[in-house]
Amino acid sequence: MKKTIEAALKEIASVINGGGKQAYLVGGAVRDMLMGKKIHDWDIATDALPEEVTALFRKAGGKVIPTGIKHGTVTVLYRKNSVEVTTFRTEAGYSDGRRPDSVAFAATIEEDLSRRDFTMNAIALRLPSGETVDPFDGITDIKAKIIRCVGKAQDRFAEDGLRPLRAVRFAAQLGFDLEQNTKDAIAGALPVSAKVSPERVRDELDKILASPLPSRALLLMEKTGLLELFLGELAACRGVEQKGYHSFDVLEHSLLACDYAAKNNFSPEVRMAALLHDIGKPATKKMGANGAWTFYRHEEISESQSRRILRRLRYSNAFVDSVCHLIKIHMFHYTEDWSDAAVRRFIVRAGEDYLENLYCLRRADTYALNAAEGSPALLLPFIKRVEKVQASSRVFMLKDLAVSGKDLIAAGIKPGKQIGIILNELLETVLDDPSENTREKLLKIAVNMNERL
Ligand code: ATP
Ligand code: MG
Repeated sequence: MKKTIEAALKEIASVINGGGKQAYLVGGAVRDMLMGKKIHDWDIATDALPEEVTALFRKAGGKVIPTGIKHGTVTVLYRKNSVEVTTFRTEAGYSDGRRPDSVAFAATIEEDLSRRDFTMNAIALRLPSGETVDPFDGITDIKAKIIRCVGKAQDRFAEDGLRPLRAVRFAAQLGFDLEQNTKDAIAGALPVSAKVSPERVRDELDKILASPLPSRALLLMEKTGLLELFLGELAACRGVEQKGYHSFDVLEHSLLACDYAAKNNFSPEVRMAALLHDIGKPATKKMGANGAWTFYRHEEISESQSRRILRRLRYSNAFVDSVCHLIKIHMFHYTEDWSDAAVRRFIVRAGEDYLENLYCLRRADTYALNAAEGSPALLLPFIKRVEKVQASSRVFMLKDLAVSGKDLIAAGIKPGKQIGIILNELLETVLDDPSENTREKLLKIAVNMNERL
């Protein structure tokens, strides 16, 4: 296991050591360093109080921001580096399952490590020597790729309902397994997890979807009951058989699509859409006349359920709208006999900005039919056709029309509702035949139409 302490970190430690205090690198940085991974931020633990840390760094010419002063944390900016420095802590009382009622400072690094969540996150490196402090055998667990609670799992999860979600998230990020007791303790802590704020659940879900294999976490969530708790609509897709072209039930299909999106580095919107795109299937499943299951208009139910889920988890409006739009338009069945007008209408409905993501979603969906890469022949002809139509005319939205509402008013049409109706009709005309998109032709059509309205 590798560990090299960077010079910049030694410089920071020397400021703390210069005040006669201890400095340890702790948390994810140590875990990631031991695994030979890239480190994204530094956390330092010290026996110096926040005021002492502040004074030491200001004296040394650094900047100090009291980021989490109540929890003993300050952010230090020193010689172009930024680190979080936290005074050794213990935590007392978690009456609401979300955050400790009070924070008490601790005397030793060992005591500080004992309040941390998992053994792999409870290792400290003394600075500047790099000497390891590993009272819970975190290094052994990292080598064995195991996530294990520090202390008794039931107690640790009862203190903080976020920890079970962190456990499954780390499993997906690192490719680790949950140690048996740790896994078994999650079900008993579900009422505590239920109290975690939606924003924190969302942040964990985002990290799961950004991981190399989201299904690793999502399947653990299913086994432990976390999926039912936070994404019950998805849990309900288990056992919903589809047959036909599909080899898997709806949940398995959704997980495969999501993994494919992650593996191919698709955007967060596509990953989420891949996970939720068929969530309306259980509600729309019916036996068709020929004895096959049907899911008519499931994309509409999937869209509305997804909107509810994503709002519940406090996703931004922009993110919710993008994901839901992708889900709404994911069912299209292109054949070569589509007219140019039909292709243009499709582009308008999808929106040019969405096409790239829509192709990605389609690839993920196709892959997840039977866990095999779809033939390029399935999507490529459509992409080529869209490109051809795009190259032949740029008229796809109201703003692309050769006339505006103002022009119509200038031509004598009364301002009001009819302006919008006429503009939309003009767009339809131009989608059918782009050569109609001249000022002269459109004004003529508009005036005619106005007389009939
Ligand atoms: P990441 O790579 O996601 O940043 P991390 O391990 O650094 O992983 P942070 O959320 O940054 O995670 O937390 C830093 C450290 O604080 C953790 O390694 C762990 O020791 C401790 N910690 C964080 N959250 C909790 C928690 N809910 N309960 C106990 N300890 C925690
Ligand atoms: Mg971190």
